[in-house]
Amino acid sequence: MGILKDTFKIDYVKKLTNKSGEDIEKTSNWDQYNALASLVREYLTSDWVNTNDRYNEKKSKQVYYFSIEFLTGRFLLNNLVGIGIKNIVEKGLKELGFDLEEIISVEKDQGLGNGGLGRLAAGFLDSMAALSIPGHGCGIRYNYGLFEQKIIDGYQVEFPDAWLKDRNVWEIKKLDKAVEVHFYGDVRIDSNGKYYLENTSPVLAVPYDTPIVGYKNDVVNTLRLWSAQVINKEFDFSKFSRGEYMNAFKKKYDVESISQVLYPNDSYDEGKILRLKQEYFFVSAGVQGIIRSFKKMGIPINKIYDYVSIHINDTHPAMAIAELMRIFIDIEDLSWEEAWDITLKVCSYTNHTILSEALECWHVGIFKELLPRIFMIIEEINRRFCKDLFDIYNKDQNKVNDMAIISDGIIRMAYLAIVGSHSVNGVAKLHTEILKNKELHDFYTIFPAKFNNKTNGITHRRWLLNANPDLSNVITKYIGDYWVKDALNLRELIKYIDDEKFQDEIEIVKQKNKDALADYILEHNGIKVNTKSIFDVHAKRLHEYKRQTLNILHVMFLYNKLLKNPDLDFVPRTFIFAAKAAPSYYIAKQTIKLINTVGDKINNDKRIKDKIKVVFLENYSVSLAEILIPATDVSEQISTTTKEASGTGNMKFMMNGAVTIATLDGANVEIHEEVGTDNIVLFGLTEEEVYELYEKHEYNTQAIIDEDPRLKEVLDQLKNGFLSEDKELFQIIYDSLVYNDEYFVLKDFDSYVKAHERIENYYLDRERWLKMCIINIAHSGVFSSDKTILEYASGIWEAQRVPK
Ligand SMILES: *Cc1c(COP(=O)(O)O)cnc(C)c1O
Repeated sequence: MGILKDTFKIDYVKKLTNKSGEDIEKTSNWDQYNALASLVREYLTSDWVNTNDRYNEKKSKQVYYFSIEFLTGRFLLNNLVGIGIKNIVEKGLKELGFDLEEIISVEKDQGLGNGGLGRLAAGFLDSMAALSIPGHGCGIRYNYGLFEQKIIDGYQVEFPDAWLKDRNVWEIKKLDKAVEVHFYGDVRIDSNGKYYLENTSPVLAVPYDTPIVGYKNDVVNTLRLWSAQVINKEFDFSKFSRGEYMNAFKKKYDVESISQVLYPNDSYDEGKILRLKQEYFFVSAGVQGIIRSFKKMGIPINKIYDYVSIHINDTHPAMAIAELMRIFIDIEDLSWEEAWDITLKVCSYTNHTILSEALECWHVGIFKELLPRIFMIIEEINRRFCKDLFDIYNKDQNKVNDMAIISDGIIRMAYLAIVGSHSVNGVAKLHTEILKNKELHDFYTIFPAKFNNKTNGITHRRWLLNANPDLSNVITKYIGDYWVKDALNLRELIKYIDDEKFQDEIEIVKQKNKDALADYILEHNGIKVNTKSIFDVHAKRLHEYKRQTLNILHVMFLYNKLLKNPDLDFVPRTFIFAAKAAPSYYIAKQTIKLINTVGDKINNDKRIKDKIKVVFLENYSVSLAEILIPATDVSEQISTTTKEASGTGNMKFMMNGAVTIATLDGANVEIHEEVGTDNIVLFGLTEEEVYELYEKHEYNTQAIIDEDPRLKEVLDQLKNGFLSEDKELFQIIYDSLVYNDEYFVLKDFDSYVKAHERIENYYLDRERWLKMCIINIAHSGVFSSDKTILEYASGIWEAQRVPK
């Protein structure tokens, strides 16, 4: 949209005065944010309405991306840039005596996700809007997002994330679009042989819509998040009047607990009944809403697949398959066969992990009680599938049991998702190959055409254009701004790789970002870091497979080396960690304590003359990532090969000119293909070697320790009082490494040390380093989620672009 600066200033002053009831000089930062965000939402409303009208008029196919998490972060900057008024607003505010950057930093992150999976969902919404694809999000409006992490005495302590405490400016509550979701009850059959439920406990699902703004294309799509409310007539007034004052509120409390808080587990399934309620809650509400708006078009229900795609992001929304079947059969009167045919065409599924602890399974007992009709339908899907398997495998009952959706009293949600979708995709080439050839090989054999790869991506507008404005300006100065619409244009930068002026500018920007991060570290951690040191960053969820332990053991080794020889020629390093651990994941939390303990010791040891600093930044989140990533020299992507399905942090760092130290895991494989062996620092076991070690059962950690005195020394230091008087403190980490090193930390240690030596040498050669940075930026365009989404749209959803 276009707006004059003076018009904006008048609008803003009016809004600020009205909202705050103060003279503008007396307003708080929050008032200023609230007024600006409210104004921006007003500005974009007509585009929002028009976008929906356009989709309705053209009867465009709508994509609904179902996800139990959307890790969106802040909206204000993204929306200002998207509607094309950032510069005018910035200038206007300045003239009024306000600073846009300061106002932007007031916004609370919308942190309704744990990590990569939720961030991917948010990025996909951004790309769908930017590409004019009619695509919307469907999820849960948690009252509390992922916990806020504080580090107290070196330990992680969790605090509730009360992100709705101040008003959420972006959302609109749509009470008229509320639907009922039914739990429990008895399945009955009527005189026509139709199934229905009686005696259920209904919950009201109320949608809150948030605009998802495209990039300068007048498109505004919708993220619809559902909130659980007690149905008014259900509220127990009789109890209330009988004096059971407290009991009267119990029901309300129970119902509203469904959308109260996000489960804080990344790649781990807790199997709690409340989680199952959350899943059915948003799936049922979302599907009902979709069917309702489809039916308004007056098109027969058996043609719905031409107008609607439902994407199942990991298995949490897999019940969408059964919910569609329920509505088609019980309400729309379709036959099982017809309903199944349509459901398959509507649904598609993304697999995100092969970690066994993350695979969702439900006990038949609790499932059947909570969702009796949905259970019946899954049973019938399973019965028919098993019958097919029985024929295919020549009555081999073991094979049937292996692949059954329900087996041994357990419902396997991944199998339901595969059987009930027309498309099953992995999230990086390696991951998809592992699915096809190993983890899901049997399913691949039966349904080869369903399986496909869609390598994850990131939105380059958030992670480069908005998070790193100085780098963006340099890029645009050399190659123009075509890269903002199509990130593949970043390749043009290769032309300037030998241009010394360009190299200088890249270096200056990185230094500026490092200086800013150093200020942040000083302010938050009280640690003064050397801004000329290598900023080596390991930021992602804390998990054993992501191997923060390998990183900190290597830091301890470097420290030991310096203690032995303080005058060693040594490129100063700043090792920066940021990671939340799931609150119940004990070893992960001890790893945080270990990092902080090592940090305290090293940071305060005068003998090593500030050559190493270790910093743990608390509360890793989207907005912290936006500060951290542009300031990174070295990106740590060191998961045990085969364990990280894709990773997306790896892509963000690369795009901001960091050099990656990596195992050949997930999308690191594709980063390597893009930049070539000289521009990424690889180490560690290959996929084949990992599988061989697992299969042979002869991995011997003691032999590795015996041969490597560096490793022996750091391992001893975990429990000999070197780090802490409490010698038991890190026993669990020691034991897991020495006696049960399932993530091959010790096996990869030597190779990791050598990789870091290579990093040091490359960094000393300034020109070589800058060229590596430039090549990484220039080749990062293929990891734009725009590219990923175009592949989903043509290869899975058959959705068209609907530009204005
Ligand atoms: C990108 C991102 C992640 C995912 O990081 P990985 O390195 O791919 O695990 C997690 N959390 C936040 C806040 C992110 O922005």
